[in-house]
Amino acid sequence: MTTSAELFVQACRHIPGGVNSPVRAFKGMDRPPVFIERAQGAYLHDVEGKRYVDYVGSWGPMITGHADPDVLGAVRDRLEMGLSFGTPTAIETRMAELICEIMPSIDMVRMTNSGTEATMSAIRLARGYTGRDKIVKFEGNYHGHSDSLLVKAGSGALTHGVPSSPGVPASLAEHTVTLPFNDIDAVEACFEEIGDEVACIIVEPVAGNMNCIPPQEGFLETLRQVCDRHSSLLIFDEVMTGFRVAKGGAQAYFGVTPDLTCLGKIVGGGMPVGAFGGKREVMEQLSPLGPVYQAGTLAGNPLAMAAGIALLTKIQEPGFHDALSQRVETLCDGLQARADAAGIEMITQRAGGMFGLFFTAQSRVDNFAQATACDAEAFRRFFALMLDEGIYLAPSAYEAGFMSNAHTPEDIQATLDGAERAFAAMNAA
Ligand code: PMP
Repeated sequence: MTTSAELFVQACRHIPGGVNSPVRAFKGMDRPPVFIERAQGAYLHDVEGKRYVDYVGSWGPMITGHADPDVLGAVRDRLEMGLSFGTPTAIETRMAELICEIMPSIDMVRMTNSGTEATMSAIRLARGYTGRDKIVKFEGNYHGHSDSLLVKAGSGALTHGVPSSPGVPASLAEHTVTLPFNDIDAVEACFEEIGDEVACIIVEPVAGNMNCIPPQEGFLETLRQVCDRHSSLLIFDEVMTGFRVAKGGAQAYFGVTPDLTCLGKIVGGGMPVGAFGGKREVMEQLSPLGPVYQAGTLAGNPLAMAAGIALLTKIQEPGFHDALSQRVETLCDGLQARADAAGIEMITQRAGGMFGLFFTAQSRVDNFAQATACDAEAFRRFFALMLDEGIYLAPSAYEAGFMSNAHTPEDIQATLDGAERAFAAMNAA
């Protein structure tokens, strides 16, 4: 048997860091990543034969569990018809209709191959539509790795961005303004000063890339208001929250309607898919109707559409999201009770089918500064102990956790039992 540790050494020879996406590398976790062989329902099975209850769900898509027979069946049914044609297919129209039906703010939608492409294209469209260059984003929000969006926060409301990654030209980054998440005053002040130069605000309506931080009351509403006041577009990046915090995404959950929405993860059922869509008059600016160019050789791939349609159809079953939220609540309440009993300073936050654990004495965490002030070492120890318990959490204190409806009450109980032992071990150390 080849172990995960051995496979990681082999991987590192020809893949930078041994991974094709950095967060998989377990950086800072003092152990090599677990190599997974297969997955079924709520479980991951690693190459060493160990089973884990999985709360990553391929970083979001697996909302009905891994290897869902309906999703696999839909892909199997399409497979023999051919993998890709580079022509229009009827299944793409079915996908577009389904998305527009589930998210009424979307009149027209275009498919991409990733969330990154969706946000990058939505930004270009907003810039093309408004004729403005500046964009506003929030500290600790992640919108994929395109240049304009890989910009770190400055301090203060109107601080202009600096590149957070070498390779992002400063001349491009200066068009990105980064504000603190959940800071209504900072948004108002920014728009007071430069509102008429802003093409769009892009926001994760529930921040899921700095753990799990829901919007404070009035935050999303303020974004809507300043965009209306200054004719800027509001873009909800629902790559993570779409179809997860509620069937209709965060926009349905919080009742705030964006101009454009970016989708990914669940929309592809586990295949490489993204999408962006919104108001007809904006979307009609896209090539070939309008001048804003955007394209994709494999975009709308029939196998990916088949997987996504099967999953989107499934999550429309009545009560699906209520049951999902209930599972998250049971997990979070159970973890909280065990942390409290053990005297471990930890809080949980959640929205629909996503949740986060913060090792902190704060009573809530609302922004990047508070999220990064949490005890990263406590998280690292908890993560490692839970992994030994057969519970697979995201290998970072800054990632949301994801529930699926394949997680049974027994799986959740096993997670809580594991957490109780993990907290005890943390106290004993
Ligand atoms: N937006 C959000 C909110 C995301 O969480 C992610 C990925 N986790 C992306 C965009 C980028 O998507 P992808 O990794 O598919 O490019």
